[in-house]
Amino acid sequence: MSVKAILADKGSEVLTVTSDSTVDHAVALLAKHRIGALVVADATGTIRGIISERDVIRHIAEDGVGILSQKIATVMTANVKVCSENHTVNEVMEIMTRGRFRHLPVERGGKLIGVISIGDVVKRKIEETQREADEIRTYIATA
Ligand code: AMP
Repeated sequence: MSVKAILADKGSEVLTVTSDSTVDHAVALLAKHRIGALVVADATGTIRGIISERDVIRHIAEDGVGILSQKIATVMTANVKVCSENHTVNEVMEIMTRGRFRHLPVERGGKLIGVISIGDVVKRKIEETQREADEIRTYIATA
């Protein structure tokens, strides 16, 4: 299955923040939408970074709660790995496993068009495994 198919199924809405808004704004959005990360993009939709709940926790542990009033630019990861619509679920899984992160923005022509989370990947892998098991059962029963 491709990233394109996942986005067609789940939708391509992505919550973004700008790097000059504050960390507490990002925290409020993460809590409100019950998600783990926000893509940091500029007004043109170009990806500038990603801020995950882990970044916030780590900076609070290291620098204290004062970071909540700092700019998102100070805690985000600027070197973001992205994928295209043509990546497969397996390729996305490999990128996430290697990079040890759970979110992958999807880019087309330099612009953000969606985000894939580890939850999206696991859901499709379970469905795929279930489908294969059903096909094997049907094959055995009718052979
Ligand atoms: P996560 O597991 O996605 O919550 O993120 C764990 C760490 O990886 C955090 O420091 C994130 O900022 C960073 N991170 C998350 N997604 C990406 C990505 N696609 N590319 C690079 N770093 C990322």
